[in-house]
Amino acid sequence: MTQSASTSQLSFSEITPFQKKLSHPLTKQKITVLQINLGKRCNLACNHCHVEAGPKRTEELSSEICEQLIELIHGFPQIETVDLTGGAPEMNYGFKPLVEAARKAGKEVIVRSNLTIFFETGYKDLPEYLAQYQLRVIASLPCYLENNVDRQRGAGVYQASIKAIQKLNQLGYGKKPDLILDLVYNPQLPKNDNFFLTSNQVSLERDYKQYLEENFGVVFNRLFAITNLPIGRVKNHLNNNHLYVLYLKFLESHHNSSTVSHLMCRNQLSIDYLGNVYDCDFNQMENLPATLPNGEALTIVKLLEAGNLDLIQEIKTAAYCYGCTAGSGSSCAGALI
Ligand code: SF4
Ligand code: SF4
Repeated sequence: MTQSASTSQLSFSEITPFQKKLSHPLTKQKITVLQINLGKRCNLACNHCHVEAGPKRTEELSSEICEQLIELIHGFPQIETVDLTGGAPEMNYGFKPLVEAARKAGKEVIVRSNLTIFFETGYKDLPEYLAQYQLRVIASLPCYLENNVDRQRGAGVYQASIKAIQKLNQLGYGKKPDLILDLVYNPQLPKNDNFFLTSNQVSLERDYKQYLEENFGVVFNRLFAITNLPIGRVKNHLNNNHLYVLYLKFLESHHNSSTVSHLMCRNQLSIDYLGNVYDCDFNQMENLPATLPNGEALTIVKLLEAGNLDLIQEIKTAAYCYGCTAGSGSSCAGALI
């Protein structure tokens, strides 16, 4: 689906505030997902990274916050899924302790892996570890074609990713029911105002599966097609090309109200490496913390003190939320409808 946005000068004030677009305030449902961003260290520095992660970043979880998170995981049976992200979550402090605590407590554990980490010194045993603890692996592979992947993520990333998928397949990932491997597609960054919405997830998954199996003999479970939200390096790129407001307007013009009830922020808490709580990882990166009804910023300590995960009434929103509601919608688990 393509549509050229108007090339006339637009200002940010012409973007309808997201909250105004909704018929009622965006509220939380019962929290069932704890998404933890362990830190900003990563072996890659992709041009679409909303975290602006990279090898030189040093921010990561401390042992104190890690212990609080484990207390949270043990204390709340309503948490069904612990979703570990970063940076490369595997490179940041707390990865293995959190995996082991969450699996012991019977939670589903997701690792958002860039796959190339398997070939870095010190991480060679990672595939076997993931299989041993039956982590669900959600891995970014922004295209099934080599050039497009290497342009977004760096030279050699595509071949390393394929090698990593072959290794995971050998261990049973994508084949055994308890070893799930999902891939993530995201569009190339726009060079002009001929913006694209993410392609249909079902047909894209079919194309990925056919190409990857025919060319490399690899298999995976599901493909998640996500939209580039205009934050982090995507925002920098759009600003550098004078496309930021045009892209927001494009997303707003494709706002689909039927996605709203499925937004991922409705049933998750997103935690940063300092123990602060947000409605999602995007709000985390944009420093838009979740608050209590009295306006106080929420932290893990406050959740533990209250003995209650369901303290947030209204979800904090911003203009980039249109990236989650445009077209078929978008989330960390792909299209919403
Ligand atoms: S997109 Fe993922 S792999 Fe790429 S730099 Fe960001 S955290 Fe690392
Ligand atoms: S960015 Fe998306 S997930 Fe986050 S608060 Fe906005 S709509 Fe919800």
